[in-house]
Amino acid sequence: MAVTTPPTKPGETEVYSTALRIYSWTPTTFIKREVPPQRRQKNQRGEYIIDPFVKELFQIEASALRLLSGPDENGLAFVETELLSGIPGSRVREECRMPDGEKHVDAGECTLCEEKAWANAESYITNVVLPELAKLRSKTMGLDGKVVPPPWVRYHDNRPTWPSKTSDTDQYILCNWDIGAHNMMFEYGMLEVIAVYDWENAGYFPPEFQFVNRSRQELDAQFEDIAKISIKQGKMAERSKALR
Ligand SMILES: [Zn+2]
Repeated sequence: MAVTTPPTKPGETEVYSTALRIYSWTPTTFIKREVPPQRRQKNQRGEYIIDPFVKELFQIEASALRLLSGPDENGLAFVETELLSGIPGSRVREECRMPDGEKHVDAGECTLCEEKAWANAESYITNVVLPELAKLRSKTMGLDGKVVPPPWVRYHDNRPTWPSKTSDTDQYILCNWDIGAHNMMFEYGMLEVIAVYDWENAGYFPPEFQFVNRSRQELDAQFEDIAKISIKQGKMAERSKALR
């Protein structure tokens, strides 16, 4: 059996992987790649875990980041971005992030730092992210002709393709259905937001598709609670409309 080597760049080190994606960095960039066939994992039913939309999602992220991207030399999708020195939201609470002499705790997790980062994230979402996204409008749904609805919609409706719809007016706004502190990078010390990542979730959609999630668990809950989704979509639509 032919074994292909995972694509690597000089100085590239893998830091994390999931069933579908490999995350790595070089001294100056951060890279997210599709998992190659030889590393595919199986689910409990013994089937390979795949996402038929993975290439579209990478292309959407690249479009959203206004970066040139595309399949690499092995035909696998990837996105490479500038590497920022900061703390990912999911890791803020692992230790106190304050400078020496101002630490909240001597050792272990720091919930005060997490609360501070979360408060900064909420303010950044309200004052920067949502107003900026609401300004970006289109008559065409999706991004660059690619439409991939939120994962909980695809979980309940696995149609193979989602054609783009067009409108007479630019009623679609740039939405991201996983806006939250867990997809933000924070600076050391003041824990201000320095970057928002994971733009696979972006696209021009009706304002109801703009979702702020306070945690990964809140995102996961969308898969199970249909009634809650519609209530939340209504609230987000109001919030987005108020920004127009
Ligand atoms: Zn702290």
